[in-house]
Amino acid sequence: MKSLFYSRLFILLPWVLIVIIMIDIDTKRTSVRSTAHFYLSRLGNAQRQDRTSRAGSNRTALPVIYAITPTYSRAVQKAELTRLSNTFRQVQRFHWIVVEDSNIRTELVSRFLAHSGLPHTHLHVLTPRRYKRSGMPRATEQRNAALGWLRMHRTPRDSGVVFFADDDNTYSLELFDEMRSTRQVSVWPVGLVGGRRYERPLVEKGRVVGWYTGFAVNLQVVLANPKALFKRRGSQPGMQESDFLKQITKVEDLEPKAHNCTRVLVWHTRTEKVNLGNEPKHRQDTVVIEV
Ligand code: UDP
Ligand code: MN
Repeated sequence: MKSLFYSRLFILLPWVLIVIIMIDIDTKRTSVRSTAHFYLSRLGNAQRQDRTSRAGSNRTALPVIYAITPTYSRAVQKAELTRLSNTFRQVQRFHWIVVEDSNIRTELVSRFLAHSGLPHTHLHVLTPRRYKRSGMPRATEQRNAALGWLRMHRTPRDSGVVFFADDDNTYSLELFDEMRSTRQVSVWPVGLVGGRRYERPLVEKGRVVGWYTGFAVNLQVVLANPKALFKRRGSQPGMQESDFLKQITKVEDLEPKAHNCTRVLVWHTRTEKVNLGNEPKHRQDTVVIEV
């Protein structure tokens, strides 16, 4: 009887030990997971407190549209920014990343953004003088600075769509509805560009087969391709955007927007250089007027 008991015990004991070890491993794993969850949620709280107010920054909420606007000081700058902000203020879940081509954040733009009522991030980076020549791509450093900011301050938990909004273009509100659903990279026609009434991606059976112009990128694609940047070297003039897209997607994966790329919802308007020929040489007014 006793020997039967011992023989059963020897058979069962290793199994009991295995079960105990398994249970132990599993509880350790859950505790690691819950610690990680604790830190992640704290991180989430800290981020929510930043001035960009990303309330409910999760995948179920409407993705935030991040518009990247390079801008530089000139007579029309405030007028351009005013026109843009009047459009952007009507877009929900919107975050404006304004990057000044300057070695400082200027007072004009700082004040302007503070009064704009828009969630924003204000960055600056000066374009080296050697790149400030006609025929050279513009705003390369500024766009890259904004991408860098997104990669530093946004995480895989944030849902968003990134697009590049030059300060002199004209944007229809419908464009934002279109781009909001960008899964990877979406494209659409642009009006008044390249010496033509419009340029558009060629679409066949819902797929992009030809060249493209306007585009938006899902935030997660920006984060997943940390090295994708606008390049000065090796990029022909006017090809910087498509060179950037080549780093993150394939033509056949592009998502056509704006009714299969048949509607123009953004115009490459350009502001005439203003004539300040009658500006007094020495300031005559008694007050300083910001224009
Ligand atoms: N830009 C800049 N620094 C410059 C020239 C342009 O930051 O020295 C910005 C400008 O404010 C605009 C974008 O780069 O948002 C594109 O410039 P622009 O509209 O002059 O170029 P376009 O594509 O119309 O020729
Ligand atoms: Mn322009």
